[in-house]
Amino acid sequence: MQSFSPLQQQILLKAGIALSTLTESQVIQLANHDSQVESLTDDQLVEFLKIANATYRGGAPIIPDDEYDFRYLNELRTRHPRHPYLSSVEPESSFEGKTVELPVPMLSTEKTYSKADLQKWLRGIEKEAANVGMESEQIRLRITPKLDGYAAYDDGQYLYTRGDGHRGTDITRVFDRGLSVAGNGKRGQGAGEIVILKSFFVRHLAEKFENTRNFQASIIREKNLDPLTEKAIAEKAAVFYPFAALPAWNGSIAEFLSKFDEVAGEIRSSVDFDVDGIVIEVVNEDIKRNLGATRHHHRWQLAYKENLEKAIVQVLDVRPQTSRSGRVNPVAELEPTQLSGASIRNVTAHHYRMVEENGIGPGAVIELIRSGLVIPKIEKVLIKAEPKIPQCCPSCDTELIWQRDYLICPNTSDCPAQIENTLEHFFKTIKNVDGFGSQTIKRLYAEGIRTLYAIYTLDKDKLLQMGFGEKTAQNLLDQLQRSKTQPLEDWRFLAAFGIYHMGLGMCEKLLQHYRLQEIFGLTADQLLSVERFAKITANAVAEGLQRIEDRFWNLYHLGFNIQTTPLLTEGLKSENSPLAGKLIVFTGAMTSGSREDLKSRAKALGARIAGSVTGKTDLLVVGKNVGAVKMNDAIGKGVKIISEEDYLALISQNRAPSLTDADAQSEAQFSLF
Ligand SMILES: [Zn+2]
Repeated sequence: MQSFSPLQQQILLKAGIALSTLTESQVIQLANHDSQVESLTDDQLVEFLKIANATYRGGAPIIPDDEYDFRYLNELRTRHPRHPYLSSVEPESSFEGKTVELPVPMLSTEKTYSKADLQKWLRGIEKEAANVGMESEQIRLRITPKLDGYAAYDDGQYLYTRGDGHRGTDITRVFDRGLSVAGNGKRGQGAGEIVILKSFFVRHLAEKFENTRNFQASIIREKNLDPLTEKAIAEKAAVFYPFAALPAWNGSIAEFLSKFDEVAGEIRSSVDFDVDGIVIEVVNEDIKRNLGATRHHHRWQLAYKENLEKAIVQVLDVRPQTSRSGRVNPVAELEPTQLSGASIRNVTAHHYRMVEENGIGPGAVIELIRSGLVIPKIEKVLIKAEPKIPQCCPSCDTELIWQRDYLICPNTSDCPAQIENTLEHFFKTIKNVDGFGSQTIKRLYAEGIRTLYAIYTLDKDKLLQMGFGEKTAQNLLDQLQRSKTQPLEDWRFLAAFGIYHMGLGMCEKLLQHYRLQEIFGLTADQLLSVERFAKITANAVAEGLQRIEDRFWNLYHLGFNIQTTPLLTEGLKSENSPLAGKLIVFTGAMTSGSREDLKSRAKALGARIAGSVTGKTDLLVVGKNVGAVKMNDAIGKGVKIISEEDYLALISQNRAPSLTDADAQSEAQFSLF
């Protein structure tokens, strides 16, 4: 995703959400996982939650539902357990129509992913029952599937959205458009959800709509329904399902807990709609009345969602995909499936030996699992099918060879897929450049570009000749320039060359022991002395480094702003270090690199790092935009304050100790704190 879609913009406008603490590109970066939730201020986090919620409910989500829960809502909960956002009803997206006071408030359902929390909640119910003189056995629970549809309230005459829980929008028009109540039920059964049969969605709608929410929103929004939507309504595949009419299990707390898995499994699969958990509620009116509600939810009702989710899915096809290393990976294309909040269409089948041995072919039936936000995986193959094993590379048509469990395209020098993926990997890894995604790379490849060096030495004329527009060409050149001037860690730059076994972590490890200038001459034995380098890795890495050496320096000498990783041995020299044993705080915006980099460098020089200034702080390093209050506070505590520039001068003098004037100067400075 590179910007909001027109639909997303429209949803945000209708919901009255204007960007104030975040920019659109910050939102996009978060959604694409290019920046982290931890870096957000509280206000930004809440703004992001509102945007994510509105777009999700409007049918054009920027992130999946579970990511909203696990990553963002949890972050807010951890920071401020009583933050008002957590106790407000997350509004459904708004649609055209007059808003009205709801006949009864429609609150959110409190939810948990933990069985321990569920049990705690049930104990609370028992306590409340005791208060009204009731034994645990007398408490009746009702368990229903938790529909993942569009919530609305049907008073018999009008249908309202949930809105903010108290005021909703009149969307009675969906009944005028022919929508029926589930099971040919009567109107006026209160709260429920607009849902679509999963099987119908997969068969007829998945091509047109990205997810079921998208479709539900279209029933409400569009003035002229498309023929497929009309068919879904006419065939009663799309219905309004009142909660009161849902299939349910009834019983006591003890019965429920003793048969938990059985009951939960049965209820989950009792309807052919998207279900994202079960709802447990107390039936006894006395207890309900006593428990009441918060502004957010009824205390007598709880949704239980399972973190780990499974689905049984049919494989439609298995496609070979050649990676940058030449491995040909099998990607199983699946019938679209909802797993813990995300729509899954593809899953990797790891390697062709697995495909061959397990019979993963078109028509096979697999069990798919996805736990939390992890990439989904094939748990087991339930029904085998004839596998399709490719003979030739899908990209260059070269005959494939087996290497242990993998099929390999041996055409390393001019297989388009290998080269394109290698180029793309570089830009994905250095991360400070936009515009060089697979489409651009494909076009450049088609125009004869094969190396990063060729990309970095492109000029405007060449790009225009290749058929790029004036604006795009300039933008690409600007981006390349930017990627050279922005600070770039040496280990990230090295990792971008994609040597097998040399991911970001391994590159950082290596460069903590050796300088860039030294690594290409290292033998496998020397590499073995670096932690985490085992024998096979060391041999492969030594070879890989030699292979890229020329390409590496060609690019390097174009002049990137490379930040050198401090050697671990520098930390050992800490008796010479001006930072040895000092307690340091960094504050403000740093210009020489990220604050994290400065911290890790200081640690390597023997410093201890703290987050805030106290009487024990030795040194406060200030970057840009530091408030006077903070400075005065530090001065008041007798803390030595030093600018980022002076700090860098201080530690760089330590790196190359020699008896020069500069060194004496550094000692003089050092004695001040
Ligand atoms: Zn190939």
